[in-house]
Amino acid sequence: MSASALNRPAGDRQTSIYLHIPFCRSKCLYCSFNSHAGREAEIAGYLEALNTHIRRLANHPWCRGHSFFSLYLGGGTPTICDPALLSQVIRNCLTAFSFTSTPEITVESNPNTLSPARLQALREAGVNRLSIGVQSFSPAQLKCLGRSHTAEDAALAYAMAREAGFANISLDLMYGLPGQTQQEWQQTLETAVRLAPEHFSLYELTVEEKTPLAALVARGKVRLPTEDQVADMEAVTSRLLADRGYERYEISNYARPGFFCRHNINYWQNRSWLALGAGAVGSLSGTRVTNVADPRVYVQRISNDQEPYSEMECLSRPALFRETVIMGLRMLAGVSITELEERFQLNPVVYYGQTLQTLLAQGLVVLDDDFLRLSGRALPIANQALAQLV
Ligand code: SF4
Repeated sequence: MSASALNRPAGDRQTSIYLHIPFCRSKCLYCSFNSHAGREAEIAGYLEALNTHIRRLANHPWCRGHSFFSLYLGGGTPTICDPALLSQVIRNCLTAFSFTSTPEITVESNPNTLSPARLQALREAGVNRLSIGVQSFSPAQLKCLGRSHTAEDAALAYAMAREAGFANISLDLMYGLPGQTQQEWQQTLETAVRLAPEHFSLYELTVEEKTPLAALVARGKVRLPTEDQVADMEAVTSRLLADRGYERYEISNYARPGFFCRHNINYWQNRSWLALGAGAVGSLSGTRVTNVADPRVYVQRISNDQEPYSEMECLSRPALFRETVIMGLRMLAGVSITELEERFQLNPVVYYGQTLQTLLAQGLVVLDDDFLRLSGRALPIANQALAQLV
């Protein structure tokens, strides 16, 4: 996809839907997401609440006249749910809202929650993109992360997904893991590349506060790789994936041509999306809407015909503009100055003045015709560079 195609406005009337499923088999040691283990008994009631919320929102004035180009079920682990109930939620959503003719429909999964029957049910419900949380192919590192599956489970899940007809599979992997060497990361990456998925999401492990991993790091029980080692892992990643025909289109995302994730591009372009489910955050024409985080409270609110929102924030035009620049620069194509001017009546060169001139002079940001983008040099230190533009 060309830079201009990637940055073409989706149009105010085209948007996406996110559904959050906050349940998992067990809690990974590094996880700070809104996900709960050991609460499987609540899932059926939660999905029923989601169905009610879907029907209710479909009649909301904001949704009328909108057409949706992607549906994304994330978590948590959506594939932990009863496949018939999960399929019902997907079908309900596809019927209740007006979708474009070929929407991207993604479901996140974990390897040990997939089976041929489950995958078939997802395909029949219309799911055409599967994201599998593999994280590592090293047994020792999976254990260190507290993942509930093995490397063999991951390979088997991938094979079953292909067998079920999934032609668009994304693998999630993490690097910078405790004790991980560059060679070990390269082995995981090479194993993953041999499977030949269409897409990779590759994230450096971040140690989040109040997680069991944070406690282990604080007590010196595990040691993370140094910054230089992580930089070496990143260098090997871009080299290896470029050699195998994957295009890096976002700081942490790589895909074969034609397989960029449309749903996530919508986030990085900071456009609108609808979010349903506990703790999910939506953005409707600049208004940020956060749902209550606790799944029980979410179900209760929906059952009592109350709104499930915990927070609503209307962002100012300059705040939305800055967010859009920062999010947009995560994509390698960068942000179009013309589009920013059309959307916000603000020009980044004028708005950021000397701050941007310094980044340009340092060679961290490049101005290419109409596009502002991060330079290759800036990618390993993207967060530091982007922090200048907050
Ligand atoms: S599978 Fe994902 S959401 Fe669930 S506990 Fe692990 S990291 Fe968290």
